Amino acid sequence: MLDKIGRETNEWDLVIIGGGATGLGTAIDGASRGYRILLIEQSDFAKGTSSRSTKLVHGGVRYLQQGNVSLVLEALKERGLLRRNAPHLVHNLPFVVPNYDWWEGPFYGIGLKVYDMLAGRHGFGHSKGLSREKTLEFIPTLEPAGLRGGVIYYDGQFDDARLAVNMAQTAVEQGGTVINYMRAESLIKQDDVVRGVTAKDLETGKVYELRAKVVINATGVFTDAIRKMDDPDAPGIITPSQGVHIVLDRSFMPGGTAIMVPHTDDGRVLFAIPWKERVVVGTTDTEVAGVSLEPCPMAEEIEFLLSHAARYLTKDPTAGDILSAFAGLRPLVAMGSRENTAAISRDHTLNLSRSGLLTITGGKWTTYRRMAEDTVDQAAVLAQLQERPSVTKDLNIHGFHQNADRFGHLSVYGSDAIGVREVLAEDARHADRLHPDHPYLAGEVIWAVRNEMARTVEDFLSRRRRVLLTDARASIEMAPGVAGLMARELGRDSAWEDEQTLSFEALARGYLAEGICPVDPGQKPWPKTLNDDGGKRTP
Ligand SMILES: Cc1cc2nc3c(=O)[nH]c(=O)nc-3n(C[C@H](O)[C@H](O)[C@H](O)COP(=O)(O)OP(=O)(O)OC[C@H]3O[C@@H](n4cnc5c(N)ncnc54)[C@H](O)[C@@H]3O)c2cc1C
Repeated sequence: MLDKIGRETNEWDLVIIGGGATGLGTAIDGASRGYRILLIEQSDFAKGTSSRSTKLVHGGVRYLQQGNVSLVLEALKERGLLRRNAPHLVHNLPFVVPNYDWWEGPFYGIGLKVYDMLAGRHGFGHSKGLSREKTLEFIPTLEPAGLRGGVIYYDGQFDDARLAVNMAQTAVEQGGTVINYMRAESLIKQDDVVRGVTAKDLETGKVYELRAKVVINATGVFTDAIRKMDDPDAPGIITPSQGVHIVLDRSFMPGGTAIMVPHTDDGRVLFAIPWKERVVVGTTDTEVAGVSLEPCPMAEEIEFLLSHAARYLTKDPTAGDILSAFAGLRPLVAMGSRENTAAISRDHTLNLSRSGLLTITGGKWTTYRRMAEDTVDQAAVLAQLQERPSVTKDLNIHGFHQNADRFGHLSVYGSDAIGVREVLAEDARHADRLHPDHPYLAGEVIWAVRNEMARTVEDFLSRRRRVLLTDARASIEMAPGVAGLMARELGRDSAWEDEQTLSFEALARGYLAEGICPVDPGQKPWPKTLNDDGGKRTP
């Protein structure tokens, strides 16, 4: 009997390790085909890379530059499907590529026309060249010195952690079982074939033996650790690369249009994106030696983002303007060269070990559905399950609502906004604000505990609501109130409340520019080719 899992069964078709985009997508795909699916996540859903993305549902203009047309085509198709299946969380966003050199207008203009063409009927809007005046109309705070014009194009934007939570709910609605705070500790083998997972419930300490026909490793940058549980000599296939974002007040870039810089000094794409009343600037690409659930931004990375933001914006941001800084690790699959992570493929990889452990890794958020489909196709053959086609192309994600904007600050809940409102109406205190500067209400904490598997203060303040990422200082001020509400709902005592408040504060300090990490000696010298002029971007 599995009390936490709440099911009488202890024999699954597929057990999935990892509750990020890849694992959750795989759980939805498998469950919606009618297979018996269990997913375990060692922390909260999307605690890893999947809550730390640039929040773009995109084909990847950068991959077009690299000539990877098939990857762009696939991603553009998935972009369209995701907007159709989760319209409450995915929306169109205009991007302007500012042109300071004479060749940039025609060059990026043609490239983005190709992007439009590849999107075909899944297109989000037509790109076009802009005059200098029009460019400044779209981005009034764009650096005007030397500006010749721009090119506007369209891509998708989303709330990554909210989508992950809604995906967990979708998997459950389709008959799957998903559990957070349950860590895979070792693999169960029978006759040298993987037949399950030994997992520990990190809240109770209880250990479970979870039997499965096939075990799927969907652990992102932790992939190699699970592969080594299977075979201690398994070679590493992941080269983790850190990407950092800084979050600034909207006054640095008011309006609803993003800036895309296709080529920074060291050859990467840089974005400044309006997101939740803030501007998110990112990202870096730093090869790192180790992996962690809580990677932290290095001083050099922050400096790089600040200096590049200053080149393109009239108001130069300083470290004191940073409301939050967050780091994520890309699970890049090494393809021979480990020298330059920016050149490593973002395509996904399926790997089957000799003992039958199926590993899915690489890819990106936008392509999770396709990755999941490929994984379940493969797993079903291995497990000798009855063949059934994937149905996720046309499967709505939990919360699906065509016009969620009408719910105001509750719009991210989609159709669940009605349920949230019912919780708010239960008690006058549920409508109390959690912080004077933010619209979030006490009843949302209660909703998150009851309906979204929020177990800790961090789960609420970082991933059910994104305050840790948009205003780390305010999130620290909110923590005691959130801890109190959660303790009552979860039946915890005041010691738990205190511990939660303190540990959240310690974590959130790492998101303030003052708390950034020193350079890790295992990290590559960085930035690789940053010019030292630090000046404005002029021809
Ligand atoms: C800086 C940055 C920006 C990005 N921006 C974008 C973007 O804008 N658009 C886009 O499409 N993609 C983007 N990506 C890529 C995208 O975020 C990732 O490809 C995707 O989130 C990876 O998801 P995942 O599920 O494979 O890994 P993860 O999200 O890391 O999930 C793996 C999970 O496995 C769990 N786990 C590990 N070990 C165990 C264990 N022993 N037991 C149980 N659970 C375990 C971890 O806790 C973790 O939650 C970005 C990536 C980065 C780093």
